[in-house]
Amino acid sequence: MPRPCAESRCGRPALSGADRCAVHHPDAAAHVLGLLAPVDGRIVLADLDLAGVALADLDLSGCQLMGCRLTASTLQRVKLSGASIQLCFVDRATVLDCDFSGATILNTVFAGSRLEGCKLSECEVIQVNFLGIRGVRSVFDHSNLYGSRFVGSWLEKVSMRDCNLKRAYFDMAHRQIVDFRSSNPDEASFLELAP
Ligand SMILES: [Zn+2]
Repeated sequence: MPRPCAESRCGRPALSGADRCAVHHPDAAAHVLGLLAPVDGRIVLADLDLAGVALADLDLSGCQLMGCRLTASTLQRVKLSGASIQLCFVDRATVLDCDFSGATILNTVFAGSRLEGCKLSECEVIQVNFLGIRGVRSVFDHSNLYGSRFVGSWLEKVSMRDCNLKRAYFDMAHRQIVDFRSSNPDEASFLELAP
């Protein structure tokens, strides 16, 4: 279980390896960069509390992220291509111009996040929760989106060409210029609530 921040009345979880949260840590960025250091040439992060961190211009390609909490974090121009991301919480986050191409993303939560200018091409995106995301100018081409849920999301200028959409849910999603060419939207769900 995450430990609470040592700052009185804060209530946020402390960053892993620290006694304070991302807001109250005197140098959260440096602390987190220390946690991201590769071990034997590979970055493996398991069960870390990284809520509220801000990461920019980082190359984390090929990393393994397992059970990590990045709630309300900001990721900008972070390269996660070929990464393996499982059971992570990236909810209410701001994810800008990040490259996940070729990544495997399983059972992870992006609910309530903003994904803009992101590349998720040639990914395995299995049973991922994108509920209520704001997805803008993002590309999921040639990806397997099996069982992923975009319920209640806002999708604008999103490309999902040649994707597997079997058991994908777009119920009550606002779609503006969403390209499903060469995909199988007939196997996805697009329920709208009756007015
Ligand atoms: Zn705090």
